[in-house]
Amino acid sequence: MNSRIIIIGQGIAGSLLAYELMKSGRNVMVIDNGYKTSASRIAAGMWNPILFKKLKKSWRADDLLPSLQRTYTELEELLDKKFMYDREIVRLFPSNDSANDFHLAVKDERYSDYLEDKPQPELEAVANDEFGYGTIKGGYIELPVFLPAFRKFLESRDSFLEADFNEKDLEITAFGVIWNGYEAQKIIYANGYKTTESKFWSYLPITRTHGNMLHIKAEDLNLKGVFNNGQWLLNLEDGSYKMGATFEWDLLEPTPSEEGKQKLITKLESGLKKKPELDIIKQHAGIRPTSADHRPIMGFHANHPEIGIFNGMGTKGIMLAPFFARQFSASLTEKSVIEDVVNVNRFRNKTKG
Ligand SMILES: Cc1cc2nc3c(=O)[nH]c(=O)nc-3n(C[C@H](O)[C@H](O)[C@H](O)COP(=O)(O)OP(=O)(O)OC[C@H]3O[C@@H](n4cnc5c(N)ncnc54)[C@H](O)[C@@H]3O)c2cc1C
Repeated sequence: MNSRIIIIGQGIAGSLLAYELMKSGRNVMVIDNGYKTSASRIAAGMWNPILFKKLKKSWRADDLLPSLQRTYTELEELLDKKFMYDREIVRLFPSNDSANDFHLAVKDERYSDYLEDKPQPELEAVANDEFGYGTIKGGYIELPVFLPAFRKFLESRDSFLEADFNEKDLEITAFGVIWNGYEAQKIIYANGYKTTESKFWSYLPITRTHGNMLHIKAEDLNLKGVFNNGQWLLNLEDGSYKMGATFEWDLLEPTPSEEGKQKLITKLESGLKKKPELDIIKQHAGIRPTSADHRPIMGFHANHPEIGIFNGMGTKGIMLAPFFARQFSASLTEKSVIEDVVNVNRFRNKTKG
């Protein structure tokens, strides 16, 4: 029996799942159509362990962050490339209440790994910080470096195919699946929001959440780390910035919108004392695959155990994918279980597919 696993999609989800499976000795083939609809290729790649609105840790942060650090460090070594960077996220408080919440949390040992109360003179010089600000320890993965480098690695192992996967060509057999002549024991959909178009997965509550992002230069801004006034401005290693992101639910394809661009610029300006000169290098847009309960979706189809899914990363692919790719891989190679809270079986399939 052929023990190959086909993964559709080389975004964050597909890449990290492929990596974990290969580490466990599995034969993997990743199919991607050249990032045509990739959210990962255009995402800022940040991680942030804190939810601003309620000032609490983001879901499973204490599990996800060690896994994130370990996995991307391993990948930097494997690919011989630098793409993981720590960044301080400086959040402007929108009110006295949120400032008070922060100052209480910073003294709480449950948060001490993530929060800091430290002066940021460069920010004070330019920001409208009426209610003050707080610092959070985060970072980013430079995805335009990581994704192509990982693709090259897959190619060097004969484990990558640039192609458009068409479900019509998928045959289910007694031993697994065959797609375009490639036999496999399992096939796993990690193709982002496009998974919603699959006859096997269209019943899942995955929403398309459109987001615009700007890549800019701003010579008169000297902000390091991440400036956040309700939207973020990320200072990249080369001195340019990424700025985002908008949230739209009626734009169903990843096409940049003029309205989104204006929203981003207006919001940034509202956080600064003086309007900066912005040189827009490029506007990007992507679709976040968002599950109804904002948790990843993984596991195998109830009626077709050879067909799997790794999806639903929403706004937090960078943090979620390393931990849950490891868990998914272990369920296949060590026969451990997928947690109920992320298992695809938590959603009922009322269709026959
Ligand atoms: C503007 C914006 C900013 C964001 N910033 C962040 C951030 O800072 N931090 C963070 O954690 N998350 C961020 N996100 C969310 C993040 O992008 C997603 O969580 C993540 O990229 C989802 O990854 P994925 O691998 O599931 O899907 P994708 O990245 O969409 O990957 C799917 C891949 O499958 C390919 N594909 C699709 N269909 C087919 C097919 N039929 N045949 C072959 N290939 C196919 C696609 O081209 C793509 O390469 C952001 C999203 C947006 C839109």
